[in-house]
Amino acid sequence: MNYERRTITFVGKTIPLTPIMQTLDKTQTKFGQLTVRLSEITDIESASSLLHWDQATYMPIKGASARSRQLATLKQISHEKFTDPKIGELLEDLRGYEQSLPYDSNTASLIRVARRDYDRAARVPAAFMAKLCRHQADSYEAWASAKATNNFAAVEPYLEKTLELSRQYAEFFPGYEHIADPLIDRSDYGMKVSILRPLFAQLRQELVPIVEAITSQTPADDSCLHQDFAEAQQLEFTRTVVERIGYDFQRGRQDITLHPFMTNFSIDDVRITTRVYKDHLDQALFSSIHEAGHALYELGNSAEFEGTLLAGGISSGVHESQSRLWENLVGRSRGFWECFYPQLQGVFLRQLGHVTTDQFYRAINKVGRSLVRTDADEVTYNLHVAIRFDLELAMVEGKLSVHDLPEAWNDRYKADLGIVPANNGEGAMQDVHWYVGTIGGMFQGYTLGNLMSAQFYETAVKTHPEIPVEIEQGNFTVLHDWLKQNIYQHGRKYTAVELVDRVTGSPLSIDPFVRYIRHKYGEFYVV
Ligand code: ZN
Repeated sequence: MNYERRTITFVGKTIPLTPIMQTLDKTQTKFGQLTVRLSEITDIESASSLLHWDQATYMPIKGASARSRQLATLKQISHEKFTDPKIGELLEDLRGYEQSLPYDSNTASLIRVARRDYDRAARVPAAFMAKLCRHQADSYEAWASAKATNNFAAVEPYLEKTLELSRQYAEFFPGYEHIADPLIDRSDYGMKVSILRPLFAQLRQELVPIVEAITSQTPADDSCLHQDFAEAQQLEFTRTVVERIGYDFQRGRQDITLHPFMTNFSIDDVRITTRVYKDHLDQALFSSIHEAGHALYELGNSAEFEGTLLAGGISSGVHESQSRLWENLVGRSRGFWECFYPQLQGVFLRQLGHVTTDQFYRAINKVGRSLVRTDADEVTYNLHVAIRFDLELAMVEGKLSVHDLPEAWNDRYKADLGIVPANNGEGAMQDVHWYVGTIGGMFQGYTLGNLMSAQFYETAVKTHPEIPVEIEQGNFTVLHDWLKQNIYQHGRKYTAVELVDRVTGSPLSIDPFVRYIRHKYGEFYVV
């Protein structure tokens, strides 16, 4: 494209451009140049995602080392292309144009989101990122081999280095309010310690007594979930369920992986994975609904966003709000099983024929004090996250040394959940996050997701009170359309803070979540 031209051809005549026309032409051509460059980068990243997906699903084990090299090459190419000073120049030249457009226009939003991503990528030197990546790979190896023997001393030097690099990362963003803010920004842009710390503190204050009350009463019996369930039939059933809530197998597919995830290569190719265990009926079922929830978000993006930086989800918190909304607020609701349980019983008549809907409903909502975050129920889950959030803040603030982490971890489990890990594998070495990521910014998204899911769902039901009745009838259209209209179609256009405000009319709050928990569990327990 030649954006330096001074004339245009109009119905066969060459006419000179007026200054205003010249500016407009130049600006629009610059916007065109920017979008072409960005869409090339998006294509490279989609190719990387496909290689990742293949690695996790079908790649033969010996393909691993070549695959790491291929992924590293693509990552380097996309990083170089994205941090090319030409992109910075184009963004700078387009500043006035962006400001002349309404905030929520697609064009202004694309420039704004591109500038935000570019600024972040350009501030951190490539050499630092390479060092961090190499360290993360080494640290992961150390963790993977030390975890089996619960040997914290073996990972301690790696974590110390991670902490040092995490603090250095934050220093590329001078002017931050809290040293963890730049780390949080990487996955939950705009969320700050000053917003999050009070939320976590209030949540802890509410949840600790609720957990205390529930666990002092007779626990639910979930033995019905732990029988012999043929894997193929489980998968067939989960396929029916996710299709029913709106997942489109013409625009996606489901495969088996060790750790379930969602990935996309375009708005029309959003894939999910699940895992299935013979004796854990809830695993395939709820991990499939969870990942399908993530997928519905991306499948619901406006078609105009295809191949642009506006496609996808805004933040880890908003993304998680969609997986949790479908998994918990819908998938673990009584109404949902009024509809689906007879069908599930039909598939597993021998195992579930004598189990009532009520027994099954209680089993899938069993609450207990446990040590493992990923297996935690929806009542205790946020306490697990709050512990990690507080500990990582204390570490980046320099108030807690890596050496003292296991003891601090165990003390908090004792205080909040009333149990103490028997070893570090169940304790400070449990989650992979700090061993492959940074210290700071790794956990808040999970709780933000739970809080937002309740706040969004409450608003949806206020607007459409028929939603719970429709769910009982296996009809998810009203809810799905509301989510598309209010959240999915916007992709990355609004920040999480803006979105929560726009959709619910209030800032993010713990209240809808606490109301939801009290109401749901109040049916069985005095809470
Ligand atoms: Zn998720």
